Amino acid sequence: MTPGRAPPPGPRGLLRRLREVMAEAGTVEERLGRVVRNIAANMVAEVCSVYLLRNDDLELYATEGLNPDAVHKTRLKVGEGLVGDIASNARPLALADAQNHPQFAYKPETGEEIYHSLLGVPILRDSRVIGVLVVQNQTRRQYADEEVEALETIAMVLAEMVASGQLSSGEDLAAVSRASTLPFRADGRMLSEGLAIGVAVLHEPRIHVEKTIADDIPYEKERLDAAVASMRDQVNRMLEAPDSDIVGESREVLETYKMFAHDTGWLAKLHQATESGLTAEAAVLRVQADTRHRMQAITDPYLRERLADLDDLANRLLLHLTGKPTHSAAENLPDNAILFARSMGPAELLDYDRRKLQGVVLEEGSSVSHVAIVARALSIPVIGGCEGVIARVEPGDTVVVDGDHAQVFVRPAPDVITAFHQSLSLRKARLAKYAAQRDDPPVTRDGTRISLLINAGLLIDLSHLDETRADGIGLYRTELQFMVRPTLPKAEAQTAIYRRVIEHAGDRPVVFRTLDIGGDKVLPYLVKHPEENPAMGWRAIRLALDRPALLKVQLRALLSAAAGRKLHVMFPMIAEVDEFRRARRLLDREVQRMVNLRKPVPVGIAVGTMLEVPALAWQLPALLPLVDFVSIGSNDLMQFLFATDRGNPKVADRYDPLSPSMLGFLHWVVQQCRAAGKPITLCGEMASRPLEAMALIGLGLERLSMPANAIGPVKEMLRSLDIPQLAGFMAGLYASPEHSVRAQLEEFARENGVIV
Ligand code: PEP
Ligand code: MG
Repeated sequence: MTPGRAPPPGPRGLLRRLREVMAEAGTVEERLGRVVRNIAANMVAEVCSVYLLRNDDLELYATEGLNPDAVHKTRLKVGEGLVGDIASNARPLALADAQNHPQFAYKPETGEEIYHSLLGVPILRDSRVIGVLVVQNQTRRQYADEEVEALETIAMVLAEMVASGQLSSGEDLAAVSRASTLPFRADGRMLSEGLAIGVAVLHEPRIHVEKTIADDIPYEKERLDAAVASMRDQVNRMLEAPDSDIVGESREVLETYKMFAHDTGWLAKLHQATESGLTAEAAVLRVQADTRHRMQAITDPYLRERLADLDDLANRLLLHLTGKPTHSAAENLPDNAILFARSMGPAELLDYDRRKLQGVVLEEGSSVSHVAIVARALSIPVIGGCEGVIARVEPGDTVVVDGDHAQVFVRPAPDVITAFHQSLSLRKARLAKYAAQRDDPPVTRDGTRISLLINAGLLIDLSHLDETRADGIGLYRTELQFMVRPTLPKAEAQTAIYRRVIEHAGDRPVVFRTLDIGGDKVLPYLVKHPEENPAMGWRAIRLALDRPALLKVQLRALLSAAAGRKLHVMFPMIAEVDEFRRARRLLDREVQRMVNLRKPVPVGIAVGTMLEVPALAWQLPALLPLVDFVSIGSNDLMQFLFATDRGNPKVADRYDPLSPSMLGFLHWVVQQCRAAGKPITLCGEMASRPLEAMALIGLGLERLSMPANAIGPVKEMLRSLDIPQLAGFMAGLYASPEHSVRAQLEEFARENGVIV
């Protein structure tokens, strides 16, 4: 462009001008000076300043309008002043009267007191803040949304220039990239206990965009259109593919992708962004940033979920543009990986090499979600509910996961690492104490023998049986073995696994639960039908009775594996007696079939049911004569009793298992089972926490099944407990009008020396 001729207004002209500036001779300072001058002119602002993160401070790198002497002198901490606020929240700020904002921090050396309005946006590189771009005006003016967007577009281009070294010297660049040294802590919820230190790995790797300013706008538009078309094609192909082709992708999510891939609003925004002079990739990032801002402002969980889908779709579109194959983070996993994901299913977790995976951090997730259950089985600490953590972490960062305090430390300071090592030795001492007590009998102070069993499902659990001296496996979740495989295991493979489990357990009983799939337990090779409420949908025994082939094969495998021994088997999600009768009939038929074929069968079969659906409790008089035992699945029971989705972090912990209604319900059920002489166990996560286990024993349960690592603390608790005393105390709690009786139970434990 000839000097002197004004560029076309708006970011498009400015982007073109910025590219020219980059090509011009001069030092980096001169170039940066020209950049801010051009931005100020284009935005009709008196001031334009660039702050870059340097050694953890936001340093004024260039300015048009403020005192030039302040350059490299004015520094703000992240979070300090308005500029620091923009950096810490990674969000734009537009203020007509900046000086009266409570966050305003006056820096006299800048001479900024005459400028009233301020518009600032974060300079983001790979979703991380590396600086702040600010324009200021003397008049108290309101900045329009288009101006905010234009400045964000410019900030994106600046980020690329900074990262490529065009705007800062080599030394500065290193300092800027060292911005990642800033430590931070994220608080969440402990989903699986434990402590770990390792390096951050993103479950969904980030995509780097190398070039942001378009050389040829029509060409970029064509690239964008082609990528959208190929992405639509791919989604359609996946949706239309025969069931077996939908690997790991749920149909429901694909349907949402499809809807968005045709959403005219989204596509129009992408086009506008390319029109403004961005490359197709940068346009996608630009629109994605908008989606993220909107997400931060929205509290409705449904809308947030949809925006999150849109965010995922933007990533997918980027892959189509960059042509890079989606490589799974599970490949090339470092030896001490701490995995970061927005959310994750149990099967995805099982894709990772257990020996290398030290910890998991989720932005979502609840304590009874299956990913948490699987992580507990694998003894991997997991912290959930760490909102926004992924945008702030960089692959390779050192991370401490502290399950005991539900905290994650990213790029921790040395004192945190010291504290980590102290916690680790305390934890080791605690574990050593439990190990030393493992031969102590699980007998209460009043002499009642409590049966402690472990929950299992992976072969790794077998060693836990010996380590804990548990009485057996109270819940063997057979579906876990199905989830770790890429294809449906054949009958022989299933038999081999079950036989190994039974042989390892020897005289100790193993209660096999037949396949409980559906809900969040997805088998990659089985088609998932879109459902509004999968937890209450076509899952577990419902699916098994409607498509009995799978159950029949499994029952055959169980019968063969237990030939010559006693088999314990139970069915999940039974809601009415008739379902149990039908399931049992299938089993009886399989036994008969084997007898007819002269195949060896078990010497005895105990057949039980899970009690997870409240309706079944009202049929206990009809049910109990038909079953050999009952096992309460408190995770599902809680979700159905209280109508709270166990997988939804917003509500999963809203109600307390130590509520009068849950305890009263369990008390009533246990009494009926005892009167009928039928053994009853509780095998949900509730049994694993000492205080909850205390209440369960107090209401009459004498058999508890839990993750292996809970046996030590629960046994220590019960050995200090007097049941008649607690039962008497609890009799007064069932009718309480309170939300929870946790505090009363805690007080009981304190006053009576029960170790919880
Ligand atoms: C339960 O619901 O409590 C249970 C033990 O089953 P799962 O957690 O596998 O659904
Ligand atoms: Mg269940």
